Amino acid sequence: MVARAARATDLPDLDGAVSACFACPRLVAWREEVARTRRAAFRDQEYWGRPVPGFGAADARIAILGLAPAAHGGNRTGRIFTGDRSGDVLFAALHRAGLANQPTSVAADDGLALRDTRIFAAVRCAPPDNKPTPAERDTCAPWLHREVALIRPTLRVVVALGAFAWAAWWPTLREVYGVRPPSPRPAFGHGAHWSGRAVPDLLGCYHVSQQNTFTGRLTPAMLDDVFDRAKRLAEVD
Ligand code: SF4
Repeated sequence: MVARAARATDLPDLDGAVSACFACPRLVAWREEVARTRRAAFRDQEYWGRPVPGFGAADARIAILGLAPAAHGGNRTGRIFTGDRSGDVLFAALHRAGLANQPTSVAADDGLALRDTRIFAAVRCAPPDNKPTPAERDTCAPWLHREVALIRPTLRVVVALGAFAWAAWWPTLREVYGVRPPSPRPAFGHGAHWSGRAVPDLLGCYHVSQQNTFTGRLTPAMLDDVFDRAKRLAEVD
């Protein structure tokens, strides 16, 4: 699996390869069971039920790093943050920031396009209770590292959605940039900002989960601030 990720020559090649990954038995079983049993509202739909590749611009200056696909969102539609409430909040914000051509993300063929931005998850298969194990995170890491390596020439800023993504970023510094991660690791927080030499800046943002957005812990204004900062740091108009 590591070797296959490392061999990917471009993003379409990587996307195709990750879609055929079966490296984590627990997650393979879960993603397929969810796709088989389905949620009542989507009973008539064919679920994707496989790993969910990254999405967005190949020359991205901003990357958004999430946790993992949602069981009935990305795992259903085959596109990250697509077809669930988290995606509604995220893409509305990206549209306000001028980074998405439309405010909604409902299906893989809905015409959504991103500008200067790419979105991917630290773990590419939907996990039970949205909780991948550390071993699953580490097993999936080569896909993340290869994707970052492929957009490295333009990438300037990474927005980590939540503490899991924030923690998943640090090994990328060593694996992709040959830079030792800071020790101790900077703590995650909403608005946290870390910058190093010749590596992308890292911005922390509360995850766009319903738990955060329904309770007002993360508001649209807070998201707008994060993407304004990301654009400034990445020198995106
Ligand atoms: S989580 Fe990642 S490594 Fe594990 S099966 Fe899915 S794509 Fe493969």
